[in-house]
Amino acid sequence: MKRPMPRERWQPALRELVTDKRLLVALDFDGTLAPLVPNPADSRMVPAARQPLERLAALPRTVLALVSGRPVADLAHLAEPPSGTLLVGSHGAEHGVFRDGALRMEPVQLSAARQARLTELAASFEKLATQGEGAWVELKPVAAVFHTRPMADRALAENLEKQAAQIGKQLGGHVLAGKMVVEVAVVPAGKAGALARLKDRCRCDRMVFAGDDFTDELALRTIKPPDLGIKVGRGPTAATLRLPSPAVVATFLDELATALEQAALATKVKP
Ligand SMILES: [Mg+2]
Repeated sequence: MKRPMPRERWQPALRELVTDKRLLVALDFDGTLAPLVPNPADSRMVPAARQPLERLAALPRTVLALVSGRPVADLAHLAEPPSGTLLVGSHGAEHGVFRDGALRMEPVQLSAARQARLTELAASFEKLATQGEGAWVELKPVAAVFHTRPMADRALAENLEKQAAQIGKQLGGHVLAGKMVVEVAVVPAGKAGALARLKDRCRCDRMVFAGDDFTDELALRTIKPPDLGIKVGRGPTAATLRLPSPAVVATFLDELATALEQAALATKVKP
């Protein structure tokens, strides 16, 4: 996308979200609220997003959630979201809530068989990572992740990603291929199911979800009007709206917060 999307293009979609219904604002983190960086530990939210998130979290009839592939603990630490934000991690396999500066996490329990599969998976990935300089393995509570983003040799990186996916399939895991990353979960996971359950759980009638990666796209394909799906960045998408970058997502959230605040005020002053 060469030019940023003009604001007037997103106004109709934004207005559709402002109703008297309960709204779930669900957002991916990396690439959506935070620019993508080579080392995931350096990922930080764009500063302009912080205030709109605080305002959204404070609104009546609005539920704020971060839905990420990261482990919940990692997500809470990096995002430091407003109090009351629901956190869904590991593509829907982990849940928590961030309240008064601390994470309250729902415990994840793996069966012995799944724990053994995870250990085997991590060992196979570690072995594979020795074949490419820069490749590395992340261990999550329910998944192992093969990263190739730091690799200079992209042809080799793609080859290793294919092998990682193959290993995951052979071990009976749930393979989620993203950008320069192959994640294999030992429990069923995916953002589409996670979002549907979340919407149900927080008794919301409407939902907006924004995400940037292939794993988000699987969820975006399931989102139908009056819910709103937002694709962040380039690439094919089934989403209704596309925003070019985390900075523009911040602007969108700022305008959404303003519109919802005005609607809440108008309801309050009604005789
Ligand atoms: Mg992302």
